[in-house]
Amino acid sequence: MSEFDTDVIVVGAGFTGLSAADALVATGLDVIVLEARDRVGGRVESAAFSDGVRVDTGGQFICDEMPEIMALTRRFGKVLAETPMEGAFLIQWDSQSTETGFTFAESSRIRARANRIDPHDPIIAGLTAEAWLARQSDPPDVKAGYQAMVEGLWCRPIGEIPLWYLIDNDRRTTSNGNELQYFVEGTIHAVAEALAATLGPRLQLDTDVTHIARRDLSVTVATGNRGVLKARQIIVAAPPVMASRIAHEPALPQPLIDALGAWKSGTVIKMFVRYERPFWRDRGLSGMVMWRDVLGLFACDVSSDRAAALVVFVGGPLAAQWSGKGAGFIRSEIIRRLVVALGSEGGDYTDFRMRDWVDDRWSGGGYSDVITDVSAYAAEAIIRAGAPPVHFAASELASSFPAYIEGAIVAGREAALQVMAALKSQVQMAEATGPLGG
Ligand SMILES: Cc1cc2nc3c(=O)[nH]c(=O)nc-3n(C[C@H](O)[C@H](O)[C@H](O)COP(=O)(O)OP(=O)(O)OC[C@H]3O[C@@H](n4cnc5c(N)ncnc54)[C@H](O)[C@@H]3O)c2cc1C
Repeated sequence: MSEFDTDVIVVGAGFTGLSAADALVATGLDVIVLEARDRVGGRVESAAFSDGVRVDTGGQFICDEMPEIMALTRRFGKVLAETPMEGAFLIQWDSQSTETGFTFAESSRIRARANRIDPHDPIIAGLTAEAWLARQSDPPDVKAGYQAMVEGLWCRPIGEIPLWYLIDNDRRTTSNGNELQYFVEGTIHAVAEALAATLGPRLQLDTDVTHIARRDLSVTVATGNRGVLKARQIIVAAPPVMASRIAHEPALPQPLIDALGAWKSGTVIKMFVRYERPFWRDRGLSGMVMWRDVLGLFACDVSSDRAAALVVFVGGPLAAQWSGKGAGFIRSEIIRRLVVALGSEGGDYTDFRMRDWVDDRWSGGGYSDVITDVSAYAAEAIIRAGAPPVHFAASELASSFPAYIEGAIVAGREAALQVMAALKSQVQMAEATGPLGG
């Protein structure tokens, strides 16, 4: 009987862990996936309105340029809904002043200008996005739009984000700005559940990994509640901040500890406001609103044949601030603002769902972790190299679409390839040091 419980342990059943396991199982390897929560999906999860219609309270939107997630939706026969976009897109400066998208286009030009800079150009070394923005000659309202975009998308204060990181991250997101193109009818969380179902008993929920012991040819894992498991290789498929909380014996190499410590979790709150009908369309509005008196607040129409609804995101410092004020405050603030922007019917909502991801117990936050150490250029490469037989993977580390569901699938597949290569060299090492190899 083998001394191993399995070939590979995967820690985390988000899209990264599920995709890694899927790829490994497809090659005939034995895999056990350990997930701390009582559900799969990680930062992809769902909840039901009172009439049973389910919505994605975490990751949701996908687009044609994301081949891996598009293939998964086809594999599991899921139906896509096109995100309604027709009509005017509002920029809401305050309760009196509204415009239809001009400063958004101008602010996007700042983003494009930044992305033309080589992330390794010494000219931007040590600069945060905020410090770089201060050197630009754009009008203050356009700069405010850029700040709102950065804080709304990366969900950290602009003064914390290294410009090189922002550029490098953005360059790997090759979707021409249409990331909101589709959402999955019946939720993208159901895609994660379908993928998990293919693993059968290889998946263990409610199992948090607290400690990993590694040797040259094996790893043992102490689970909080399921005893000790032994495998040849392990993938920690959790965001860097969460991965940094697992204890290692022996301790990880210092550069790897530093690399995992270079990140902070994003802060985001996601809400759905349900209506009888998409009343904003009567006035030629798309339902898409971006606020400018507060930065990081954004609403968009996600109505489908099944329900009329707006999704509202609060991201970055505003989410951190509002999270502390409680659900009642946030709900009344959102409804008040929707009434101002879209009209009095904004107050006639029929249901409201809120998911506060700030300091989430198992993902730390969202949309993703962000590097906040301006000197940590090598952090991603160091984490990706890992400390075999311990490997690390997360959406954040993907070669394409980092911080997106697509990136999680890419990262999972990349980690699976790395593990297969490591297993091959492990076999060679065992042969070399075995009875014949001396
Ligand atoms: C509100 C919100 C909206 C988003 N919107 C979109 C969107 O519209 N489109 C898009 O593409 N992306 C979106 N994202 C981002 C996307 O959801 C993530 O990039 C992606 O799901 C991350 O997957 P992952 O597997 O890398 O990490 P996670 O999903 O975080 O999975 C990691 C898993 O590891 C588990 N875990 C952590 N520590 C341990 C431990 N010690 N032991 C065992 N298990 C552990 C966690 O419970 C979790 O299940 C959104 C995210 C959020 C939060």
